[in-house]
Amino acid sequence: MKRIVIASNNRGKLREFGALLLPFDFEAIPQSTLGVGEAEEPHATFVENALVKARHASAVTGLPALADDSGICAVALNGAPGVYSARYAGEPKSDQRNNEKLIAELARHTDRRAFYYCVLVLVMTPDDPRPLIAEGEWHGDIVTDPRGDGGFGYDPYFYLSEYGCTAAELAKETKNRISHRGKAMQILAEKLRGRA
Ligand code: IMP
Repeated sequence: MKRIVIASNNRGKLREFGALLLPFDFEAIPQSTLGVGEAEEPHATFVENALVKARHASAVTGLPALADDSGICAVALNGAPGVYSARYAGEPKSDQRNNEKLIAELARHTDRRAFYYCVLVLVMTPDDPRPLIAEGEWHGDIVTDPRGDGGFGYDPYFYLSEYGCTAAELAKETKNRISHRGKAMQILAEKLRGRA
């Protein structure tokens, strides 16, 4: 089995990425167990940040690497919080304060549309000239009153009209299948099959 480093410390993501890569004979190893620290995310686009993270993990370990970057974009806010989703309300990171800020910013807007976005980047080497890149989007509306206790981040405020509930009220398996990350993972799997 080939080893691949996952440039994330989020347990849920590590499990999902491990399952995604297994059929391709990749053993997914979290970057923390290989002594890789978190890379800076200095860029204005998701794909640049994911590339930086993947290259960094590959450079430190000498292994192929998979990184992701994601966030939520509100249409009326010209895509904010976007790449700044995790720290929208500043440091230290707080889902509750991020959500309060998003609701406050949207208060004077009638357009409540928003979408989650995820990009995955897989490099075989730090200077891989042909990284595999897969994107996924998930569209919904931001509601004022939170519902549900599943998921994380902005999920209790992310309403899906086709399901009649928020992302925090969905079963975990359903969310994993239809979410921005789930879609990007399916596309990455197709691309990996194409490369094999
Ligand atoms: P990262 O890609 O792990 O850095 O995540 C960026 C931020 O986007 C998270 O901290 C959340 O605030 C938000 N986010 C990304 N994906 C989701 C999701 O599936 N549900 C809720 N919030 C999300």
